[in-house]
Amino acid sequence: MAFLQLKNIGKIYVSEGTVAVGIRNVNLSFERGEFVAITGASGSGKSTLLNVISGMDTYEEGELLIEGKPTSHYIQSDWEEYREKYISFIFQDYNIIDSFTVLQNVELALMDIRNPLERKRRAIELLRRVGLESHLKQKGSRLSGGQKQRCVIARALAKDSPIILADEPTGNLDAQSSKEIVQLLKEVSKDKLLIVVTHNYDEVKDHASRHIRVFDGAIESDDRSLPESAEPIMNQGHEGVKEQPNDRVYDLRSGLRLGWASFLAKPKLTLFICFILMIGVLGSAFITGALEDAFAMFGKFYMFQPAKGRVIVSNHEAKEFTDADLEKLVEEYGAKSYFRYDAILDTAAVKEESIEFTVKRFTKTRAEFPTLNFGATTKQYGKPSVGRYPEDDDEVLLYVPLGCKNYYGSDSISTKANDIHINTFHYDVVGVKYYIDNTKQPMIVMTDAAYKKLSEHVSKNWKKFRDLGRDSNSYTVLFNTMINMMGSNDNIYNQASLFFSSEAKAKKAAAKLRENGYLAATSKATYSPDIFSLIMRAVAGGFSFIIWIIAIVFLIFFVNLCTHRSLDVIKSDLTIFRSMGISVRVIKISMFYRMYISILPGLLLTLITFTLIYISPNYNSMIRFLHWYEYLFIILGIVVITTLVTRKQIHRLFEDSVKKTLKGGAEA
Ligand code: ADP
Ligand code: MG
Repeated sequence: MAFLQLKNIGKIYVSEGTVAVGIRNVNLSFERGEFVAITGASGSGKSTLLNVISGMDTYEEGELLIEGKPTSHYIQSDWEEYREKYISFIFQDYNIIDSFTVLQNVELALMDIRNPLERKRRAIELLRRVGLESHLKQKGSRLSGGQKQRCVIARALAKDSPIILADEPTGNLDAQSSKEIVQLLKEVSKDKLLIVVTHNYDEVKDHASRHIRVFDGAIESDDRSLPESAEPIMNQGHEGVKEQPNDRVYDLRSGLRLGWASFLAKPKLTLFICFILMIGVLGSAFITGALEDAFAMFGKFYMFQPAKGRVIVSNHEAKEFTDADLEKLVEEYGAKSYFRYDAILDTAAVKEESIEFTVKRFTKTRAEFPTLNFGATTKQYGKPSVGRYPEDDDEVLLYVPLGCKNYYGSDSISTKANDIHINTFHYDVVGVKYYIDNTKQPMIVMTDAAYKKLSEHVSKNWKKFRDLGRDSNSYTVLFNTMINMMGSNDNIYNQASLFFSSEAKAKKAAAKLRENGYLAATSKATYSPDIFSLIMRAVAGGFSFIIWIIAIVFLIFFVNLCTHRSLDVIKSDLTIFRSMGISVRVIKISMFYRMYISILPGLLLTLITFTLIYISPNYNSMIRFLHWYEYLFIILGIVVITTLVTRKQIHRLFEDSVKKTLKGGAEA
C-alpha cells in the first residue's frame, strides 16, 4: 500500500463555457522520504496536480488514496481535516501573515502545544533551523522574499505533517536564495514526502530523488533512478502521523488566542471600526432623539391623554362640592379617592423660556392619588442643586434638566430667573434641582398648601384660563368636550374627580352617577378628539415608527460596513490559516472573537462620548437621551447584527474550496 496514491485522476476546469483540462489520467504513487521534483511548461497542470494532492482543489475523475483510504466521497469538512492531518503547503508568493510577527507566524502552526512557553521555545528552535532566529519580532511584511519563504518553511515544519508540498517556492527568489531554500527544504524533510514544483530543474537536481515531467495535463515521464536517490521509507503507516486532539475547550482557547492576535495585528482597522460605530450609534441616537422629541412635543399639544379610572363629576347646582360631599360619593360609588379641585390635573403645562413644566406638589408623604402618581417627596427629588425647597405658598423649586444651568445659575439662582408665573399666580423660585437624565419631565415643585391653593384657583377660574392658549390646552379640551358631552351650559365650576381602581369600575360608576342626577363622565369618555388631532396622532405615530426604522437601517448599514471591512481585511489571512490546516472550528471561533473585541472599543468610546455630553451643562440638551433599555436594545442590536453578518461571511468563505478563496484573496 502506497502512502499516497493517485489513480486515474482527472480535473477539468469549466469557466464561461470553455473547458480547460487541468490534469488527466494521472497515475502516481508516493512514499514518505521521497523528494519529488515536478517540472513542465507553464499551464501544463503542475499547480493543479499539487492542489488536488493538497485537498485544496477537488477532482472529478479517478481516486486519490491516502494510506489506502479513498477520498472521492469527501466533502469540504473532510478535506479540512485531511489537510490538518497530512499537508503543509508552501506557495510561490510566501503566504505569510503580514501583520503577524515571524514568531507568531510559526506559533500559529504550533497550536497543539498547550504550554505557551513550550510553544514559544519550539517556535524559536524551528526558526533557528531556518536561520531566522534574529528576526523573531519582525512583522511578516518587513521580511525579504527569501526570509518570508524561510518563515513559511519553519511554519510547515512546525506542523510536522507527513507531506510537504511546495509550488514554485523559489519562483520569486534570486539564484542564491533559491539554492538556500531548496537546500533547507531537503534538510528539513528527511522522513517526509516532499513534492516541489519548479520551472528550474537545475535548482533541485542535486537533491531530488525523483523527477516527474508534466505535459499538457498528463504525466510525460517519471524518473526515479536519480543519482542522489534516497531509499523511500515504506509502510510506515500511521506512525509519526499525529492524531489531532478533539478538545472543544482547547479549540476555544486557541480560537480566542488567534482572534486576539489577529485583532492586535490590525490597529488601524480597529480605529476605523471605532469611528464608524461611533457615527452609527451617535447618528441613530440623534435621529431618534431629536425627531422623537419634536413629535413628542407635537403630541403634547394635540393629544390629550386620559387618565385611567378617573371619573369627572359635577352637579347641576352652582354649588361647590365640599370634602364631606365627596367623601360620601367615594363611599357610595366604591371609589378609591377623590380630588376636589381637579382642574389642575389637566393644567399640565406651563411654558417658561421654552421649557414646559408640569406642576407637582411637594409633600412629605406620597400623594393620595396613586392613579395619577404626581406626588413628590424630598427623597424623590434629592438635595437641591441651588437654594432650598419651598416653605411658603408663594415659593417653588424648579426641577429642570442640566441644560438649564446656564439660565438658572449654578451657585445662586440667577436674578433674571428667580420668579415664575402660573397663570395669574406669581411664585419666587427659591431652589433649583438639576437632573441629567433629560428624558424626564421638567417640573415645578411647590408645597402641599400652595398646590391646593393653585388647584382651587384654577378650578374656580377655569373659564379665564381657557383662552390663555397652550398653558391650559388640555384643560380646555377636557372642559369643552365635557360640555359637549353632557349638553350642559358652561357653568361647570363645581367639578371634582373620583378615582377608581379600574376603567371598567369608573365607567359603571359614571353611568350610575348620571342616573342619580349628576353630570359625570370618565376621563376617557370626555376625550372625543376632533379629526385634526386624530390625524395628528396618526401622523406622529407613523413618523415615530419611521424614525425608528430609519435609525435601525442606519445602524445596520454601519455595523454591516464594519463587519465586511473587518473580514475583508483578513480574508487572505484566513485562507492561509486554512491552507495551514488550522481547524475550521478554531478559525471560526477566532473570527467571532475578533469581531466582538473589534466592536468593543467602539462601543466603549461611544459610551464615554455619551457620558461626557450627558454630564455637560452646555451639551446636555443637545441630544434627547434615550432610556437605558433603549441603549441596551441598540447595543444588543449591534451584537446581533455583527453576529449575523459575521456568520454569513464565514459561511461564504468556508463554502468554497481553499483554491477559490485564495484566488479571490489575491485579487483583493
Ligand atoms: P501550471 O501550474 O503548470 O502552470 P496549472 O495547473 O495552473 O498549470 O493549469 C493547468 C491548466 O488548467 C491550464 O490550462 C490553466 O489555464 C487551467 N486552469 C488552471 N486553473 C484554472 C481555473 N481556476 N479555471 C480555469 N482554468 C484553469
Ligand atoms: Mg502553477
